[in-house]
Amino acid sequence: MTELIDDALHILKENKYKITKQRKSLLTYLSQYEESYVDVTVVDDYMRNQYPGMSHNTIYRNIKEFKEMGLVEQRMNGERACVKYQCDFSHKHHHHFICTSCSKVVELDSCPLGYFENQLPGYKIEEHKFELHGICDECQEKLVKS
Ligand SMILES: [Zn+2]
Ligand SMILES: [Zn+2]
Ligand SMILES: [Zn+2]
Repeated sequence: MTELIDDALHILKENKYKITKQRKSLLTYLSQYEESYVDVTVVDDYMRNQYPGMSHNTIYRNIKEFKEMGLVEQRMNGERACVKYQCDFSHKHHHHFICTSCSKVVELDSCPLGYFENQLPGYKIEEHKFELHGICDECQEKLVKS
């Protein structure tokens, strides 16, 4: 876990951000969510509890900066923004499988973009979202047992 934080702190420094107590504890808190997403309002509540003087704006801005630096990943769950700790700092672009039963997130190795690019010669694809949903192996085992 500490090693995980060290890498993130290193990236913060590279991006010329000061390592404040608040940023460090925000990162430490988020590092618990490497395998699942957490609602940003939950993160906000936690931080406001730890640092009553910290404003919502500051917390949301920090999360946004972390996202831009590739320290966290964000997705929308309906209307709600959720974040998780970056799966892999050296492999920023990747996709996920998300278990609909336990919400576990699994990092996928490959990106299907090339496959579609081949079908659209001469086009410029500017954005893509790809996510697999289903039941993970552990949940399937539990289903069989119960
Ligand atoms: Zn990921
Ligand atoms: Zn599962
Ligand atoms: Zn991709």
